[in-house]
Amino acid sequence: MPRDPRYDILFEPVKIGPVTAKNRFYQVPHCTGSGWQRPRTLAGLRETKAEGGWGVVCTEYCSIHPSSDDTPYPAASLWDEGDIRAQSLMTEKVHAHGALAGVELWIGGARTPNLGTREVALGVTSMPNLAGNPFQTRAMDRQDIRDLRLWHRNAALRAKQAGFDIAYVYATHGYLLSHFLSPIHNTRRDEYGGSLENRLRIVQELIEDTKDAVGDSMAVAVRFSAETNGGGGDDGNPIAGETTDIFEMIGELPDLWDINVGDYSFEMGVSRFVEQGALEPYVSQIKAMTTKPVVSTGRFTSPDMMASQVKRGIVDFIGAARPSIADPFLPKKIEEGRIDDIRECIGCNICYMGDGKGVPIGCTQNPTMSEEWRRGWHPERVQPKRSERRVLVVGAGPAGLEAAHILGKRGYAVMLAEATRDLGGRVSQESKLPGLSQWGRVRDYRLQQIDKLPNIEVFRESRLSIDDILAVGADHVAIATGAAWRRDGFGTANPQGIAGLTEGATVLSPNDIMAGRMPEGPTLVFDDEHYYMASILAEAIRLTGQPVTFVTPDDSVSAWGGFTVDRWRARSHLMALGIDIITAHNLESFSDEEAVLACQYSGAKRIINAEHIVPVTARAPLDDLYHVLQEAIEAGTDGAPQTVARIGDCNAPSIIAAAVFAGHRYARELEEEIDRANPLKHDRVFFEDAIMKMPFNARR
Ligand code: ADP
Ligand code: SF4
Repeated sequence: MPRDPRYDILFEPVKIGPVTAKNRFYQVPHCTGSGWQRPRTLAGLRETKAEGGWGVVCTEYCSIHPSSDDTPYPAASLWDEGDIRAQSLMTEKVHAHGALAGVELWIGGARTPNLGTREVALGVTSMPNLAGNPFQTRAMDRQDIRDLRLWHRNAALRAKQAGFDIAYVYATHGYLLSHFLSPIHNTRRDEYGGSLENRLRIVQELIEDTKDAVGDSMAVAVRFSAETNGGGGDDGNPIAGETTDIFEMIGELPDLWDINVGDYSFEMGVSRFVEQGALEPYVSQIKAMTTKPVVSTGRFTSPDMMASQVKRGIVDFIGAARPSIADPFLPKKIEEGRIDDIRECIGCNICYMGDGKGVPIGCTQNPTMSEEWRRGWHPERVQPKRSERRVLVVGAGPAGLEAAHILGKRGYAVMLAEATRDLGGRVSQESKLPGLSQWGRVRDYRLQQIDKLPNIEVFRESRLSIDDILAVGADHVAIATGAAWRRDGFGTANPQGIAGLTEGATVLSPNDIMAGRMPEGPTLVFDDEHYYMASILAEAIRLTGQPVTFVTPDDSVSAWGGFTVDRWRARSHLMALGIDIITAHNLESFSDEEAVLACQYSGAKRIINAEHIVPVTARAPLDDLYHVLQEAIEAGTDGAPQTVARIGDCNAPSIIAAAVFAGHRYARELEEEIDRANPLKHDRVFFEDAIMKMPFNARR
């Protein structure tokens, strides 16, 4: 289909200093969890974005020197020759698809612990480490500032050698340059502290240095917070502060402004709390302050909203991290008029979790993320089927839907049987909970695709028994029947379950609540899972007017949500709803409307009155069909398939992303020869480059 002319504006080339982007789709710097350790994985990931039509593809934060070391979080680096080689892998691949490559040169300051390199972190003053470590920065003296400028310049020169087209000066997100800008943190008395002119000096010098070093052929971008040194909207202006003054002074200096806000939990907030395009009130004022192109983000997946942002003069480039992860081919799909095929980001931040854990990022919507090189998975293409054999997929949750979709794409004859009328499994149930409506996109994308494939037959309201499966006589069967929340309280804190949690109206499982069985009366939600489910169920119950107490053995609410940046917002949200929160307490037993809690530190007991308990602790895999089918295969029963596999939650209950991944993997690998001893390519830095990173003495 031809492109809708409404979106033509998105495909206009835009000049950025000495270089020109072929269109307005700009993959802003984002973490990948691969950094300098996995150069090929990274190059494969970034190449896929360029192939998918992004006009600009950037690195993650890229350390200019060992004094900016975020280990164990894997940043990129441009410290030496080896890094140039590693980064060239990416730039060559990005250029091969006509895109520009950008590098986000990064100086850590008080947010970096330098645990890997043991270098002392440099700070605007001697200030505590902001990542929670019990050590401080060294207050930079004039020599440190001269060194820093030289390191930044040299990193820019290496970036040029590595083939980059855009170099960043990174002046936000609580890293060193934000502290120089800040009137609170910057208490220096020299020419780098005091007046705004002085506080801005280092940023200005780094922009000038970078332009001087590489500005003939590379653009210089500045990543900057719209509400620098103030704002927040108390006076109705979300960017009140020093932004206007700063733009009066250096608004024309860089070739591009990459605008965001300092608070990650808003800038890249989960969809439960932050809408698409939420940065607009912050960004909208920037373009009036500069003639240079402006890029910003907003989890944009709607081409209408993208075009509107450009037409209304909010931005020149549509910046994206998450939408480009969920669908690296988003620009191509808009260009080819295939809007239905866009795999929309659901705003869950599982991608960010990967980086926080120091592993290659995954994505709930895009199971091929970070697998481009090491497993050879392409987000849009799969290899054709190997035979005419028929495949039955039992269960249409995220695992079953993805398996059926990819098997169908490979050309297999697929039957997808689902017990209920609704397809989507847990995704359909959870997306009805407060704030989770966008979870439904996991189902919707796959149903759209399945609808287009005539070789997939979908059977709703078909709860299959073993006899039904044998009667179908499929060659391969994938069991994707999911898992059910346990009612007995079994979990990390209570490996033998919780005394008194028996069947009956007093105990409601998360499945009960999602099925609409709401408690009436004071309810205790016990969270031993530590992700979103307990806090959202507490909210759902509270919204019906019932008093709710949220109890967790952990020190914080939704502790794992720290990796998806919703922990803080989840807790403040529950507080605003009037939910009582008790942390660091285990639920030991429950009887006669009394819940006995035990302090995790002292063991001291405490009694809470509750009529209902909702244990959010663990799930039981629903894998019976798998086991009986396996027996049938072994017994040579008539109609038994050649193979049976269990995938997703019925194999090992996990997050939705894991179910999608499992479904995808099953479908990709069916009838393929996979080396089980080496199922994926092992990425590593080049041996000689590792040598170069060693101190001089160790090299001999
Ligand atoms: P996953 O996350 O692994 O995809 P879900 O729990 O989301 O798992 O989905 C499992 C799906 O399987 C549900 O929609 C459920 O109704 C369906 N299901 C369970 N047992 C059967 C069965 N015997 N036949 C058909 N569908 C089933
Ligand atoms: Fe979007 Fe979630 Fe994928 Fe991240 S993991 S890109 S938030 S769908």
